Amino acid sequence: MPRGMYKSRTFRRVKTRLPGGSTVTRFLQRKPKQAHCARCGVELHGVPRALPSKMSTMAKTYKRPERAFGGVLCGRCLRDIIKLEARE
Ligand SMILES: [Zn+2]
Repeated sequence: MPRGMYKSRTFRRVKTRLPGGSTVTRFLQRKPKQAHCARCGVELHGVPRALPSKMSTMAKTYKRPERAFGGVLCGRCLRDIIKLEARE
């Protein structure tokens, strides 16, 4: 019987086959949700879906696109905002 903390679905269950042939259930942390655009809510590309401990070891250039508002706004929203700024 698993420990109490593993009985809920807080952790995801992964069945792993061991070298001896037996199967064990591993309880792993769930991944965070995909990053979304702050304006329209569409999923952002180029932003990894990794745990904070993994994100801290990743290079900054791996974590968001290298442009203004990269990792915050999607390309379409950024284009709209730049156009609006230019027309003012
Ligand atoms: Zn957007």
